[in-house]
Amino acid sequence: MKAVAFDLDETLLDRTGSLKEFCRWQASVLLGMGPDESETYVARFLELDAFGSVWKDVVYAKLVCEFSLTRVDSNLLLNNYVEEFCRFCRPRPFAQECVKELSNAGYRLALVSNGPSPFQEKCFKSLKIDGYFDAVIVSGAIGISKPDPRIFLAMCGLLDTPPHECVFIGDNPEQDVEGAAALGMYTVFVPGPISATCSRADVTCDDFGRLPELIATTGVR
Ligand SMILES: [Mg+2]
Repeated sequence: MKAVAFDLDETLLDRTGSLKEFCRWQASVLLGMGPDESETYVARFLELDAFGSVWKDVVYAKLVCEFSLTRVDSNLLLNNYVEEFCRFCRPRPFAQECVKELSNAGYRLALVSNGPSPFQEKCFKSLKIDGYFDAVIVSGAIGISKPDPRIFLAMCGLLDTPPHECVFIGDNPEQDVEGAAALGMYTVFVPGPISATCSRADVTCDDFGRLPELIATTGVR
């Protein structure tokens, strides 16, 4: 294997953990909620967000209604999310170490993320590992999303590596694993809130501390 590509949300980024911290801050500091109401607000946000599949203008419009918010409107909350969420972004345990180790071992690295641009890029940069990456592709910037093969081929082009010499690591069985496997990439499934299992993946790994060794022992097929 010559190159390793990562998904962002729930793969390199502990999205749910980061979102909880951000929502708690938004509820207490911006909305003045007490601890109990804050926790209800956090839980409802996560429910409406549906693992990131619903954009936040819809989520906030509902929250403003359900929590009878009068001092703020959904636009203000959305802008606050777009501006401030990145401050709360934290990596999955050992993700930063894993990236550094793979880079030191000579692998070319890429990020391929579905989501709005430049929001996703900003979240990625806040993890402070972007300097190790040779390519960053966000679906919102190019108008093509995983699992469309064109986004994986664009990645291979930027890495100058054919698909069968690339490893793809992600938490979404359809968008990450099936998309990358369809082109012949070696796939690593990371269990997370979307799914605990993925039968299509070559391997399942929830420990980023083990990933570099796992990839090193994977021969080119
Ligand atoms: Mg993901």
